[in-house]
Amino acid sequence: MLNVQYSMKNTQYILTDIEGTTTSISFVADVLFPYFLEHIEEVRAALNEPAVHSQIEAVKKTVVEEENRQISDEDAISFLVHWCKTDRKHPALKALQGMVWEKGYKNGSLKGHIYPEVPNILKTWKENGLKIGIYSSGSVPAQKLLFGYSEAGDLKPIFSDYFDTVVGHKREVQSYKNIQLALGLPAEQIVFLSDIEQELDAAREAGMKTIKLLRPGNDPLSTHRTAADFEEVDRMLMS
Ligand SMILES: [Mg+2]
Repeated sequence: MLNVQYSMKNTQYILTDIEGTTTSISFVADVLFPYFLEHIEEVRAALNEPAVHSQIEAVKKTVVEEENRQISDEDAISFLVHWCKTDRKHPALKALQGMVWEKGYKNGSLKGHIYPEVPNILKTWKENGLKIGIYSSGSVPAQKLLFGYSEAGDLKPIFSDYFDTVVGHKREVQSYKNIQLALGLPAEQIVFLSDIEQELDAAREAGMKTIKLLRPGNDPLSTHRTAADFEEVDRMLMS
């Protein structure tokens, strides 16, 4: 492991990833995806609602483009199930998952996982004048549900900004440049937290400071500074 030394003292903004950083990497795969599959009946029951109908039509359009065949509503639902199981990033799947999850969060059957030390550290940073934003490949509405209905209650007031792949993909340097422009801060005043080496590489190339979170199961080899949890990140920011 390299020992990367630089001061974090002029940090103004913390940009954080979700999965593997604030939240267990398995939350989406082990909780959210199965929840969608178990509640697929809610999609079937709402086929005549315009918001659902338009997404089903988008699924059919993709199948026409990719397989050159017309499919029924029921076939479209089978494709959604398959795409969910294979983690395909299709906008219609994401939209329908978001609708099903929203209902689950609101009726209390889903709660966003947050590592236990994260809420208090985030609150302390905010109280000390830092701004905090999210950058995740999950959609902004899904991010707001996760933090709005988290195990630690509604954490949305902590965050100033939410970014998803609308600004670009997480392993591309330009995405971090886009975020930096949107924030209007010098890149070196932004610290990006993530569990993924390639995301951190891209953020560093855009001029941001970087810290890799070593949550359980993550690879400790890194050319970035590393921290076991947000308490350790906090000590780095203070030193
Ligand atoms: Mg991650």
